[in-house]
Amino acid sequence: MAEEVVRELRASFAAGRTRPAEWRAAQLKGLVRMIEEKEADITAALHDDLSKPSMESYLHEISLAKSSCKFALDGIKKWMKPEKVPAAITTFPSSAQIVSEPLGVVLVISAWNYPFLLSIDPVIGAIAAGNAVVLKPSEIAPATSTLFAKLLPEYVDNTCIKVVEGGVPETSALLEQRWDKIFYTGNGTVARIVLAAAAKHVTPVALELGGKCPVIVDSNVDLHVAVKRIAVGKWGCNNGQACIAPDYIITTKAFAPELVDSLKRVLERFYGKDPLESADLSRIVNSKHFQRLAALIEEKEVADKIVYGGQTDEKKLKIAPTLLLDVPQDTALMTGEIFGPLLPIVTVEKIEDSIDLVNSKSKPLAAYLFSRNKKLQQDFVANVPAGGMLVNDTALHLANPYLPFGGVGDSGMGSYHGKFSFDCFSHKKAVLIRGFGGEATARYPPYTAEKQKI
Ligand code: NAD
Repeated sequence: MAEEVVRELRASFAAGRTRPAEWRAAQLKGLVRMIEEKEADITAALHDDLSKPSMESYLHEISLAKSSCKFALDGIKKWMKPEKVPAAITTFPSSAQIVSEPLGVVLVISAWNYPFLLSIDPVIGAIAAGNAVVLKPSEIAPATSTLFAKLLPEYVDNTCIKVVEGGVPETSALLEQRWDKIFYTGNGTVARIVLAAAAKHVTPVALELGGKCPVIVDSNVDLHVAVKRIAVGKWGCNNGQACIAPDYIITTKAFAPELVDSLKRVLERFYGKDPLESADLSRIVNSKHFQRLAALIEEKEVADKIVYGGQTDEKKLKIAPTLLLDVPQDTALMTGEIFGPLLPIVTVEKIEDSIDLVNSKSKPLAAYLFSRNKKLQQDFVANVPAGGMLVNDTALHLANPYLPFGGVGDSGMGSYHGKFSFDCFSHKKAVLIRGFGGEATARYPPYTAEKQKI
């Protein structure tokens, strides 16, 4: 099956079907139509998979996917144009250009937490760059996966764009094939499997992974605004099941009580006195992830540090927003990515110490700082390696199509969004064009002593 799919797409690509700007635009328009006409079905699938609140589905998946399509539609003709670059004196006379060439047949393997956006967004880049593409949505979000398998053939060219559904066996079979790029979103363990499979064919990869995203909170802030922005970036993003959701907060010992009180107040305002009943919080995706998260806070030395929340409902797969203060650094909560509604707060003596603490862990996908202190802002930008960063807010950097989105180190490699998606799925072909003049005889043998004097 995997082999046949790749064979068919290779034939379509070799026939040049995906190259014309018109084909690319037609597919992107098809995707826009699909999003507009099937918005209710997409919202329902996301609700089935995650109880995702419809407002979140719209803001974080549907509208972002649509604007990503439109941005590519506006850009492709310009992006496809060869980029003229200066010609070097050594090649005089000549003209030089960079031609963006489609890579060929590419594979997109997507994750369950934003199952619509994380599937369609790389596919948009692959199409814009003129590739044939196979999308393998996550089996852990089955409703969205099935919806893609049903809808994509209705709206885009099925000889060049295909959906293959399935779990590990199906993905493993896909990974045995030769691809021209593999774009993987998910965890670091599977990323290593993807990388090993890609190595067999020297296939380039983009790995969109996660990590522990820190939020440094200085006392020199508008606390009312800061806590709302932290809360919405954590619990308002799929109840913390987001790669760029705040994983832990760092603040000073002196400021922590005020920050905790303020977070408690905002949480109660957002999700009420019984957050397990709130329709504005996604559930945990499945019982495996529920057990994983519940185990993190059952550990005695962690449970003792809960200052807010901690309620769970296994039947409904719900976990309440939970704040923890000064959990020991060697616990599982503080060493691995949390990917759920638990938010530990770590305290330091001076806010400047927080940078060393962040840098003692793997490079995060996103790092956040809340502070009015310009010097601290500059130190943060200059000295914290991260996939991306945002000062005085959370998550929003992802919505700017002029910024690349991707990780560094353990949080991934390669980036996409906006034109970066086009570049991610293009080869930058170096082209030098010369005439027949400008002969430099020294380059031709025999390398006589006379020539070597030059
Ligand atoms: P997941 O379980 O949906 O897995 C991702 C994909 O990998 C799926 O399509 C799945 O079929 C495939 N897969 C799973 N096991 C495999 C195996 N053994 N061999 C081949 N393929 C396999 O998602 P997940 O990994 O639980 O996703 C959560 C992680 O992804 C978190 O670490 C999160 O931070 C990260 N993430 C990153 C981004 C980003 O854009 N950087 C976005 C979302 C999630």
